[in-house]
Amino acid sequence: MGRLEGKVALVTGGGSGLGAADCEALAAEGAKVVVTDVNLAAAQAVADRIGANAIALALDVASEEQWIATYAAIEAKFGGLHVLVNNAGVVLNADVEDTGLDKFRWVNSIMIDGVFLGMKHAIPLMNKSGGGSIINMSSVGALLGYPIYFAYSAAKGAVRSMTKSVAVMAQVKGYKIRCNSVHPGAIETPMVQQAEGRPGQVNQIPDGVLPHGSAGHPKDVAALVVFLASDESRYITGAELVIDNGLTIRP
Ligand code: NAD
Repeated sequence: MGRLEGKVALVTGGGSGLGAADCEALAAEGAKVVVTDVNLAAAQAVADRIGANAIALALDVASEEQWIATYAAIEAKFGGLHVLVNNAGVVLNADVEDTGLDKFRWVNSIMIDGVFLGMKHAIPLMNKSGGGSIINMSSVGALLGYPIYFAYSAAKGAVRSMTKSVAVMAQVKGYKIRCNSVHPGAIETPMVQQAEGRPGQVNQIPDGVLPHGSAGHPKDVAALVVFLASDESRYITGAELVIDNGLTIRP
């Protein structure tokens, strides 16, 4: 028996990087996984790789209409929802002086509006399903600030605080919903390759122990996501889980 048998999970941005690894790890533990992405072909490829435990749906997280339609489709097909992984994200390489308002709003529309809408519309469905776990992908940028990714770290800071607000609200209202944020350091994905100006480079990091200081593997984050999705983490809510190989505590 997998740790997530009987649970239904939705992952945003599931067509690439961390989201794809999350989908695979959740399904490997027995969850039914809804792989969503603005890029449907990418989501479909991940769902095909997983097989019977996954379906793919197109979802632009900035669209409230699409969120509502997605949850309606999930309720019709699976009868409920237990795990939401708000993972979709974009990076903008610009400091505050070089960030235009239009680009700032674009980043926020995906990473703040997207997380807000995902949570807002998941909560009634999770309540009908007996409760759930919301996992919001933030970043160490929310804790440290990133001068060269100004809009990105601003949005990730909002993800951190929205997480805590929802966690407390759920307790006050007596909902069986936990809500936590995950704060990775550098993990080898297409986003990091793009941010570092080396798009398309293939991930060559082998599974297993990573040398100190190197980028992490998407599976490192996926293992934490599975734990937060499972009942093993039932006493953890409102927490910010840093997964950065010690980056944020180094002098
Ligand atoms: P990635 O670029 O590999 O994947 C991001 C996915 O999000 C893509 O599949 C993309 O199509 C999708 N996406 C973009 N806009 C979308 C939208 N409007 N609606 C739905 N999907 C959309 O990036 P990744 O590195 O896997 O990042 C995943 C998450 O983890 C992001 O939130 C990112 O900020 C966060 N994160 C990543 C790292 C890292 O080092 N890779 C570190 C900290 C946090």
